[in-house]
Formats: sequence, C-alpha cells, structure tokens
Amino acid sequence: MNNILDFTLLELKAWFKNQNESEYRAKQVFDFIYRNVWDFDDMNNIPITIRKKLNEAFYIGIPKVVEIYESSDKNTTKYLLMFNDGNVIETVTMKYTYGYSICLSTQVGCRMGCKFCASTVNGMVKNLTSGEILAEILAVEKIIGTRISNVVLMGSGEPLDNFNNVIKFINIVNADYSLNIGQRHITLSTCGIVPKIKEIADMKMQITLAISLHAANDELRKNIMPISNKYSIKELIDICKYYTEKTNRRITFEYSLIKEINDREENAIELSNLLKGTLCHVNLIPVNKVTDNTFEKSTKESIIIFSNILNKFGIQNTVRREMGTDINAACGQLRRKYIELKGDNRGE
Ligand code: SF4
Repeated sequence: MNNILDFTLLELKAWFKNQNESEYRAKQVFDFIYRNVWDFDDMNNIPITIRKKLNEAFYIGIPKVVEIYESSDKNTTKYLLMFNDGNVIETVTMKYTYGYSICLSTQVGCRMGCKFCASTVNGMVKNLTSGEILAEILAVEKIIGTRISNVVLMGSGEPLDNFNNVIKFINIVNADYSLNIGQRHITLSTCGIVPKIKEIADMKMQITLAISLHAANDELRKNIMPISNKYSIKELIDICKYYTEKTNRRITFEYSLIKEINDREENAIELSNLLKGTLCHVNLIPVNKVTDNTFEKSTKESIIIFSNILNKFGIQNTVRREMGTDINAACGQLRRKYIELKGDNRGE
C-alpha cells in the first residue's frame, strides 16, 4: 500500500488513468486531503466504487501526535509525531508577527555527526519520504487550526542527504493543488554537502539556502562537523558563491556560538574575512546544551562583541532569538529523551 501523500498530482492522475477512471478525480481527492479530510470514505463526491479502490491502494499517512510541549512564552511549540512504522520525529512551530513558521525533520535521526547536535547521537534510522515530510505540516496545521506560512528544513536530518525526497517535497508543498507555500518561504539548511548544493543551484530554485557553518577554518570545523573532512571551507564558500550567481539569492550562514571554542574575537575576524564579498546574512545562535557534550553557551558579552566585529566588517548578522529552550527545542533533543524513556530505537 502506498502513502498517497507521496504522490504528485500528475502521478495520481496517472494512477486514475490506469484504473480506467477520470483523471480529474485526482484533484478532487487532493482537495479533500489538503482540507484535512483524511478518510477516503468521507470524500462524499467520490463514488463509492472509487473510494473502495483508493482504500485498497493507498493510505493517508498522517502521523499521530504523541506529545506536545509549549514554551513558557507560548511562541514555540514542539510536537513529537509518530508515523505508522513506529518512528518518532520532532516538528517545531514558531509564532511570529507574520504568522507561523514550521521547522521540519527530513530524516529519522541523522548520520552527519555534528558534535553539538542531539539528532545524530544514535545515527540515522531512515529517510523520510516527501509525503512524510509534508504530513508533518498537515498534522500540525490541524492542531493549530491555521495555515503555516514559512517552512524551514532544519529539524532532525540533513536534507541534502535525502535529496530526491526533499526536492519532491519542495515541489509538492509549493504546488497550488497542495499547500501552495512559495519557494521564497522555504529555507533549506545544510551542513554543506557541496555537490548537492551545486545540484540545487543548477535547478535555480528560489528557496533560501542556509549553511550550518559554525567555524571559519577547516581545523576547527573538522573538530565539530565531520562533513568538513570531506569538503573544505573553501569548496563550501565557492559553491555558495556559485549558488548566488545562479539564483541571485542571499545565503544564510548559521553560526552556533560555543563558549571558548569558536566565540573569540579572532574567530569573528576570521569569519568576517571568510565571508567578505559574499551576498550573505549570518545568524548567530547561542548553542544549546546537548547532554553528551561539554559545549557551553557563550556569554552574553562575548555574543555582543562577536556580532559587533561582524558589523564592523560589514557582515550583516542577527543574534537568533532563543526560542523554546525550556522545551528542549534544539534539534533532536526531545526525540532522544522520548526514546531513552521508552527504551526503544523507534520510540514504540
Ligand atoms: S546539525 Fe543537522 S546535519 Fe548536523 S547532525 Fe544535526 S541534524 Fe544532522
């Protein structure tokens, strides 16, 4: 049986054609699903014979909401979602003045091994399909009762390590038969898989690319992000420039400030020199504590000094508002806690 959410409209039309049914039924079915009708038997303008065929061929893969945690300021909510294979993932919504932004997981776990991240501690369990990623939005929208306006692929998993499913997800979520979220409202965050960045640059998508940089030299970056053993910072910055040339899009660089590791004045100067001449914005993120490591959050004072140095060099930057630290909102921490409590890799 297939998850119907993995299908594009064209693919579903082809299925109907194959069943000797009218292709327009595909759009009718999606109209129901994207209006939160998740039982084929409730699709009242679809003939019963077709509903039977749909029930035999497909399921609508909406995950079960296992737990919901709301931050004390009520602006950040974290959802622990369970798919029907028993895997649990985390999805986070953030409420801004312009609406809701959602941070989606693209894999169950992650194999990239970044030292500051809880998602990677138990490795990667599986790639999420395009429909599973999409279903994170549908499940949450139903709870909050409103549409999500911005999507950030920055939860558990490395999106470019799940390339085909993530690109398919972006195409579906962007389509007018689906959620119609514009590409400029979608941010993809990567630890820097250089050949895949080239591929999305060549597709000339209008999404925002965010690079998890976190260090401005190879030696330091290798210590915290194993991907640096594969691609040097020079290769990464060169491909970012290529991305901007192809798309005219500004790149976001994510820089987690870790006390006395990468938050010194010389680190800020090195970062400024590295990014000079690139069309970019730097997000400075006070690092979240992960149980297994000894990383500590930079002091407020050193964060301000770091930011001021970037300003002096003309590098636009913002210090990210810390959202949801009281609900383990950093990527992977909640799922991990849940798995530890339940004592099972999938959280069943
Ligand atoms: S930061 Fe992202 S790429 Fe790195 S281990 Fe965590 S989820 Fe994976």
